[in-house]
Amino acid sequence: MTRHSDILAAFGIPASGDVTVRSPADGLPLGRVAYDTAESIETKVASAQAAFLAWREVPAPRRGELVRLFGEELRTHKAALGRLVSLESGKILQEGLGEVQEMIDICDFAVGLSRQLYGLTIASERPGHRMMETWHPLGPVAIISAFNFPVAVWAWNAALALVCGDPAIWKPSEKTPLCALATQALFDTALARFGDAPAGLSAVVLGLSDAGRTLAADPRIPLVSATGSTRMGRAVGPVVAERFGRALLELGGNNAMIVMPSADLELAVRAILFAAVGTAGQRCTTLRRLLVHKDVYDALIPRLKAAYARVRVGHPLEAGTLVGPLIDAASFQAMEAALASAAADGGVVTGGGQILADLHPGAFYARPALVEMPAQHGVMLQETFAPILYVAKIGSLEEGLTLQNGVKQGLSSCIFTRDMQEAERFVSASGSDCGIANVNIGPSGAEIGGAFGGEKETGGGRESGSDSWKAYMRRQTATVNYSNALPLAQGIQFDAG
Ligand code: NAD
Repeated sequence: MTRHSDILAAFGIPASGDVTVRSPADGLPLGRVAYDTAESIETKVASAQAAFLAWREVPAPRRGELVRLFGEELRTHKAALGRLVSLESGKILQEGLGEVQEMIDICDFAVGLSRQLYGLTIASERPGHRMMETWHPLGPVAIISAFNFPVAVWAWNAALALVCGDPAIWKPSEKTPLCALATQALFDTALARFGDAPAGLSAVVLGLSDAGRTLAADPRIPLVSATGSTRMGRAVGPVVAERFGRALLELGGNNAMIVMPSADLELAVRAILFAAVGTAGQRCTTLRRLLVHKDVYDALIPRLKAAYARVRVGHPLEAGTLVGPLIDAASFQAMEAALASAAADGGVVTGGGQILADLHPGAFYARPALVEMPAQHGVMLQETFAPILYVAKIGSLEEGLTLQNGVKQGLSSCIFTRDMQEAERFVSASGSDCGIANVNIGPSGAEIGGAFGGEKETGGGRESGSDSWKAYMRRQTATVNYSNALPLAQGIQFDAG
């Protein structure tokens, strides 16, 4: 149906349905999909619940084998899926491929994890008793994902969920449904090779926010892992809490970098550039606030402006492009509005504005903007999902930390310094209040080995590495009495005679 249709054919995705999906790169149709109905969602949830009863009995290392096979499919189809990610989300091809690599990495991690779902043995206070803590499969997990990581976020959740014994039900962003269908097609191939997995282990539910709301409200789904805006989390959280489900929330960020006088400025400029303009400023971990010590402000900012001037904005599949398009018109308008608001607050704006409209009339390419602010206030306190970097001057590390922590979001943060005391202070209890705190690394581009997520209005959830897997399992404390007596805890005497 379109010049992009070859890409979908590679995954065997049917080009049918009444919803047209367009590429943000050129506004042209990429494919068509059909949204789920209340009935089809009901069927998928019921099927996931039935799958859970069988899957929880499968030994975890065998469950890991399915994820291993899926990782193989991803390796084979990395180029095609990376290209689709690029075309449907607008991120440059390198980042599309990187996202698929992240899926492969988390599969590898999950395969190893499938042999390490450790519990504890705890000393009992009662003689002849053994106490243990065991992690059991939890149940179907709903994964609601955002447009900007259209496949990796699902993989972070699904790879862990599957080895933990949980089926996955995926509600992808309405802006990137094709990536979800392609991923599911690869997963189906892995399932066929695996052989005896129950039907309904992985399902995709397509639709708008109401489809997400339906899953959030369903008591058969004990865990809802939702990634997106703080607005979405504020809606999903109470719905899940109302039924005493668990919500793992990965929401918006407003990430800062502190640059201190001893910093390697060359390194800092490179890190700032990747973190602030990469993915066209549409990462949850994008650098949005640059807090520069007054002693190096005049050395850093002109260099940064020169680097900004060299950034190539263009079609995400074109070699040499560093910044692709914004996802849609609304996103571009939000950027324009934020820049106008910052200017009204005394900000000095360099960059911004639409470009390449003649070449791609149906797309929204913007020049990344740098805004020198007289103080941290107004729109600088919000997350605008676009390439805007606000810059403010600081007089000390203390002031930097106060500003850095002085926003409602708490996802990622970093400091550039060669002073050990400053670096240690930044990652200490009284340093950054974020889930992620880096030294001489930008705030974006996390590895999968660590737990990923943030505090405050970022939602508090953790997924991916470390012991994030525990969110996908049910903790059970079990005590076994192998004696012939019945001693009570706390020495309580309860003798009926
Ligand atoms: P969004 O909130 O508009 O949508 C995200 C998902 O939530 C979509 O699938 C959407 O259909 C669904 N949704 C929206 N409202 C809902 C509701 N009331 N009930 C149930 N589901 C609902 O976000 P977006 O524009 O796709 O993504 C950008 C946002 O996501 C940014 O704020 C970004 O910071 C955040 N994000 C956070 C992380 C993280 O790990 N912290 C990662 C990626 C993106």
